[in-house]
Amino acid sequence: MLNIVLFGPPGAGKGTQSERLIEKYGLIHLSTGDIFRANIKGETALGTLAKTFIDKGQLVPDEVTIGLLTSEVEKYEEPKGFIFDGFPRTTAQAKALDEYLNKKEKPISMMLALVVPEEELKSRLMERAKTSGRSDDADPAIIANRIETYKKETAPVADFYDAQNKYHKIDGVGSIDDIANRLVEAIG
Ligand code: AMP
Repeated sequence: MLNIVLFGPPGAGKGTQSERLIEKYGLIHLSTGDIFRANIKGETALGTLAKTFIDKGQLVPDEVTIGLLTSEVEKYEEPKGFIFDGFPRTTAQAKALDEYLNKKEKPISMMLALVVPEEELKSRLMERAKTSGRSDDADPAIIANRIETYKKETAPVADFYDAQNKYHKIDGVGSIDDIANRLVEAIG
């Protein structure tokens, strides 16, 4: 089973590259951000709760996010593998995911970390706001908060996978095709 954590700051291209990888490898794409947005749209209790954090550029609490993610994984009986996009975003989430997948004997195969300079991230997010309809993309203050949250809470997750020799750094600047090729090369 190929279980990939696709990692990187907001605007790094995780969603775009996930689409390429699911096509090529027949994987299931699990994006916690997408699941939260679907819940906000459907006006569920989870959506209402998540929105209070997302609108400030903060993380949704671990206990909510971990429960959500594992119940999504449970929905699939014979998956070829998963791409985890936007999860884990804290070391506690990474530990919980490891525990959960190791128990199933389907551990994380690798973390692919897209690296993009901060100025480029900000301009990509402002550009994406024109078509994404995401309120958290349109406001420079929320974007700045998301990047700060990434640095403080999420960046350490790379060390967690590095300690297991599963961390792969990928240059996230260039054309979508070039970046996809780099990812495929790293998957090997
Ligand atoms: P994304 O679509 O991955 O950029 O996520 C949008 C927002 O959803 C983030 O800014 C967080 O507020 C929330 N979110 C998504 N994934 C997680 C996660 N793994 N842990 C906590 N909050 C999350």
